[in-house]
Amino acid sequence: MRKRILVTGGAGFVGSHLCRRLLNEGNDVICLDNFFTGSKENIIDLLPHPYFELIRHDVQEPILLEVDEIYNLACPASPPHYQFDPVATTRTSVLGAINMLDIARKCKAKILQASTSEVYGDPEVHPQPESYRGSVSTTGIRACYDEGKRCAETLFFDYYRQHGVKIKVIRIFNTYGPYMNPDDGRVVSNFIMQALRNQDITIYGAGTQTRSFQYVDDLVEGMIRLMNSDDSFTGPVNIGNPGEFTMLELAQKIITLTGSSSKLTYKPLPQDDPLQRQPDISLAKKELDWEPTIALEEGLKKTIAYFKSLTR
Ligand code: NAD
Ligand code: UDP
Repeated sequence: MRKRILVTGGAGFVGSHLCRRLLNEGNDVICLDNFFTGSKENIIDLLPHPYFELIRHDVQEPILLEVDEIYNLACPASPPHYQFDPVATTRTSVLGAINMLDIARKCKAKILQASTSEVYGDPEVHPQPESYRGSVSTTGIRACYDEGKRCAETLFFDYYRQHGVKIKVIRIFNTYGPYMNPDDGRVVSNFIMQALRNQDITIYGAGTQTRSFQYVDDLVEGMIRLMNSDDSFTGPVNIGNPGEFTMLELAQKIITLTGSSSKLTYKPLPQDDPLQRQPDISLAKKELDWEPTIALEEGLKKTIAYFKSLTR
């Protein structure tokens, strides 16, 4: 049977991939977005599809929809964007979670929350398992995002215990790929755009901080497996690629793959920037039979090709 699936933040980077995949699998997809960081361009090919609907709406406000499943992705994810209006960022995570959980409760729909590795803050445990409770500054400039997402997780588990809502919580680690906004400010899009333009590559701090980068197709596969898993499995579950790289290593790879003449330039490290990050994915392997399949170099090649097509 064709499922009616709501994707909030569906016009964003990850959401557009998810909408495309769910449509291709024969579902009825409703994309809800306020276009803060997403765009119609990301989903322009989906607009003529008879089973695709687009709603311009802000998840901070309630809405009534009849659906079978909800993927709640609406929230800016890049530090410059979520710090642009930090109060709106927290409101989006917290009120957005409440409004979407209320729909799930009324329709008896299953709901998946796009949480984040940022709930671990600047981690003192490495790699990070789901049992690690995190080290987040409540007052720093990243807290609007980190604490908003932490509170959203709390709301999900309280709706589950108090109202019996079927929930799924995924903790996503740094993800990259086509349809990232080239002006997004995240490291992969910044470095590729700078390399393609032969501009200096901006390394924040000494560039020795690490991240583990996952290609977007692996993430979407993990999200769908989690949504389709047994109701008794709620997560939270880490979905990420354990391959860990310093920002200097990432810059070097991108310079090589683009054949760029860019040099490195050093900028101050932003406040509270985590030093290291790597997912422990044992739980995803055990419960979802999931692991990433696309190595960094392969994913970067596809992403570079996409950004090249934009600059042509
Ligand atoms: P993105 O900024 O490209 O997409 C977010 C989408 O949400 C955009 O289309 C934006 O317009 C929309 N949006 C923002 N606020 C909204 C609101 N109040 N009402 C309705 N729509 C709103 O970011 P992304 O990388 O695609 O991230 C998608 C989700 O995955 C986010 O919830 C993010 O926190 C989570 N996540 C992403 C990553 C990553 O590396 N990409 C890592 C961890 C978690
Ligand atoms: N970063 C960088 N240069 C840039 C953008 C980001 O060195 O032009 C660094 C940033 O300080 C962080 C890492 O790259 O240490 C990842 O940043 P991003 O914003 O992509 O993700 P997050 O910090 O949220 O994991």
